[in-house]
Amino acid sequence: MHTLNIDVAIIGAGTAGLAAYRAAKAHGKSAVLIEGGPYGTTCARVGCMPSKLLIAAAEAAHHAGHAAMFGVHVDGPVRIDGREVMARVRGERDRFVGFVLRGVESIPPQDRLRGYARFIDNTTLQVDEHTLIQAQRVVIATGSSPAIPAPFRAFGDRLIVNDDVFSWETLPQSVAVFGPGVIGLELGQALSRLGVKVRVFGVGGAVGPLSDPAIRDYARQALSADFYLDPDAKILEMDKDGEQARIRYLNLDGEEVEERFDYVLAATGRAPNVKGLGLENTSLQLDARGVPVFDPETLLCVGAPVFIAGDANNILPLLHEAADEGKTAGDNAARYPDVQPGLRRSSIAVVFSDPQMMMVGRRFADLPPGGFVTGEVSFEDQGRSRVMGINKGLLHVYADAATGRFLGAEMIGPRAENLAHLLAWSHQQGLTIAQMLEMPFYHPVIEEGLRTALRDAAARLQG
Ligand SMILES: Cc1cc2nc3c(=O)[nH]c(=O)nc-3n(C[C@H](O)[C@H](O)[C@H](O)COP(=O)(O)OP(=O)(O)OC[C@H]3O[C@@H](n4cnc5c(N)ncnc54)[C@H](O)[C@@H]3O)c2cc1C
Repeated sequence: MHTLNIDVAIIGAGTAGLAAYRAAKAHGKSAVLIEGGPYGTTCARVGCMPSKLLIAAAEAAHHAGHAAMFGVHVDGPVRIDGREVMARVRGERDRFVGFVLRGVESIPPQDRLRGYARFIDNTTLQVDEHTLIQAQRVVIATGSSPAIPAPFRAFGDRLIVNDDVFSWETLPQSVAVFGPGVIGLELGQALSRLGVKVRVFGVGGAVGPLSDPAIRDYARQALSADFYLDPDAKILEMDKDGEQARIRYLNLDGEEVEERFDYVLAATGRAPNVKGLGLENTSLQLDARGVPVFDPETLLCVGAPVFIAGDANNILPLLHEAADEGKTAGDNAARYPDVQPGLRRSSIAVVFSDPQMMMVGRRFADLPPGGFVTGEVSFEDQGRSRVMGINKGLLHVYADAATGRFLGAEMIGPRAENLAHLLAWSHQQGLTIAQMLEMPFYHPVIEEGLRTALRDAAARLQG
């Protein structure tokens, strides 16, 4: 077995791992980046980018089919060519992956190691059966994987996860999606708009990441108008029948229905990739899920000079957070034991459904009861939204009742991805509702809807 002495060993060459590697090297340390799976990152290969490519095709289909309200008629039914749809998704996806691969290739070969790493002790790693690494510090940046509840195994080879969708050559006829979280809603709606028969089933009533009951109810109704969505489904039976999955369930009217699907997409959450890392061989303190206990500011784990970043620590499983945390982990691994808090931006999350959803700052569910006011706007009569025929949505902005400071927002509605940025930037600046209302608003724009919500909050702060 080959042996290697190194300052910083990084497990996982995803977004967090790559950022950690660059940061450690910038401090003049020796570093090695260990990757067991394919290079290219989850985001580019099977995550953010291919899902948005599929959504882009779905939006094109939707707009083509809904132009008549403007007096614009596309002759005949919209024809969707599944092979062409998937060829573009895969082709563009491969382009994005190509950029990442070029970045990886620019890393000196001696700093890259192929294989799966596991801890032998606090700072000794074994990579497959070929290399033993003696590191001063270790960064765990192993990402996450779909967590599939055991009963879903009844679907046999009809059961798929998001990765599988993006390798399809063409679109199937029918897909049942379990889990109306971000991934399930984005993929479910996109497939539905591309002509696939889709049913989306959930448990407990959650819709995306929303925590404000009014926004969540609006979201459920708005999305249900577009595709079958039951966030609290009653599933009676599920198994594989021939080459199809069979599901017997109570529909939204309480009637018993039995349907067959080409595939069942499990979008039932993601779990950090910590199993198989040999963490039991270390003195790291582990939580109930087997994830090392760590300081969210410095990402230092309790019990050893080990840091954990990105989806692996599961606190904010988003791309920009993985990049920021990777840098923090790499910086701190390099300067250990002199660790420092890394950059933590105001929180921002977007769901690329239609209408889009967004959450900024503190979630409604985490606000102090009685300590805040809510400003509201409906987008149903909002000028520019109506002009464009996208006048569906509800926005809540939350403000501190004592200081008037903007605390957070939840929304489903038009251009939520853009409003989320305005609001997250305001949140990070610590602005009050009054200061936000001093900012310019052009006319006629969707941001005028945001102004209505801010004015509503201002009135409530005064009243
Ligand atoms: C369908 C989907 C859509 C998404 N859309 C968005 C979006 O729109 N916006 C957004 O912000 N986020 C989105 N995300 C989330 C985002 O993709 C992730 O937060 C981000 O990619 C996590 O990066 P990471 O570096 O933590 O993990 P990864 O990029 O997964 O990297 C982890 C790497 O570690 C490797 N590895 C694991 N174990 C070992 C081991 N023992 N030894 C060696 N290597 C190992 C893996 O092979 C992998 O390459 C989406 C995710 C999915 C699945």
